[in-house]
Amino acid sequence: MRKMTQTLVIYTVLALSASSQISPSSSEVAAVYPDARALYVDLHQHPELSSHETQTSAKLAARLKSLGYEVTERVGGTGVVAILRNGAGPTIMLRTELDALPVEEKTGLPYASNVRAKDDTGRDVPVMHACGHDVHMAAMVGTAAIMSQSRNTWHGTLMLIGQPAEEIIRGAEAMIKDGLFTRFPKPDVAVALHVGNELPAGQVGITPGIYDTNADSLRITIYGKGGHGSMPHTTVDPIVLAARTILSLQTIVSREVKPGELSVITVGYIHAGTKNNIIPDQAELGLTVRTYKAEIRKQVLAAIARIVKAEAEAAGAPREPSIERYEFTDAVYNDPNLAERLRAPLQAALGKDKVVTEEPQKASEDFSAFIAQAVPGFYFSLGGANPEKWAQAKAAGTTLPSNHSALFAPDLDPALHTAIASEVAVLRNLLNASPEELRRLSSQSSR
Ligand SMILES: [Zn+2]
Ligand SMILES: [Zn+2]
Repeated sequence: MRKMTQTLVIYTVLALSASSQISPSSSEVAAVYPDARALYVDLHQHPELSSHETQTSAKLAARLKSLGYEVTERVGGTGVVAILRNGAGPTIMLRTELDALPVEEKTGLPYASNVRAKDDTGRDVPVMHACGHDVHMAAMVGTAAIMSQSRNTWHGTLMLIGQPAEEIIRGAEAMIKDGLFTRFPKPDVAVALHVGNELPAGQVGITPGIYDTNADSLRITIYGKGGHGSMPHTTVDPIVLAARTILSLQTIVSREVKPGELSVITVGYIHAGTKNNIIPDQAELGLTVRTYKAEIRKQVLAAIARIVKAEAEAAGAPREPSIERYEFTDAVYNDPNLAERLRAPLQAALGKDKVVTEEPQKASEDFSAFIAQAVPGFYFSLGGANPEKWAQAKAAGTTLPSNHSALFAPDLDPALHTAIASEVAVLRNLLNASPEELRRLSSQSSR
């Protein structure tokens, strides 16, 4: 509560100093805040796994319906589309994700999740909103309320979407395949934010150009020849072969990719064998590969295939290994002109020193699927860290728990206030432009 009061004071000061009348005022945010916060707590206590967000999407849909939006449910699975038409003008999309993660919450918060659910393989797993998608949903509902109550401040069509299955990078594509941009208006700009501990709560970060990484998930099966653990000469040991392959893969980043270019190859699991005295006949490796540039991505994926095959051949494996790229997404690209245009309204809403320029992130996200449909995108970062803890960590050279950690706990009141104020500022700015103006702006950006 102490923090909330501080935030309100800051907003009051900012509202007075803001020159633009379309900046959200402190009273506008304060009026919708209790409801948004209550929704956050409810969502945080009832997280749902990717593609299973049925209660979550129903809650979001009900709130948006009650605010006067035309709501369509079950778009691309559990996806929600909510439209508010307000005369001629551009169509602007704001997206939130719906899903949580199989993580056991250890934050100790009074509203911590103790939910467990069956995952897609039938395993019983803990579930937690460890990526902050609950913050995004709560902010969207607060923003939706302000936008519907202030239709004299903008014109055009506001399109709010709740996207399922972001964590398995499937939901955006599923919504597009289910007619997101044909059954509903195709947006002139798509907007999203993501909370994280890289910035203190109260701040937002803008990254013009490449925002995050290309991500590729690989499943590699190495085939050997099984047998008795006491008679290795009658076998081709896939565990030794897998170990050698993993070490060779590490030379791609250190020896093949040009120094300074981002590339990450992580072998996140190795599954092989059942018993100490049995040599199994195969081993499975799970990899994640991250890059910024398309040409580096191509180079790294080709090098992985080359090394995996050559190591198998060197070991005399009876079959060529199989390499399956089962999940992948492109880096999110922030239209640079759009990013520059939106800096001013964010500064007006939050204060000049609260809007920083950030380096690209290492994480990945399927918001790029919307951009791939020729929709210019603006994806920005929302500070989630408690400002004192953030400053202490910075001074000590340590880091706060990242997204997906069991300890990830955004400093809710300042982060959620800032999320709502930023979204309203960005949407009102874009919904005061003409579609032609926005088209001209992004066509002048060069990739
Ligand atoms: Zn995540
Ligand atoms: Zn996320």
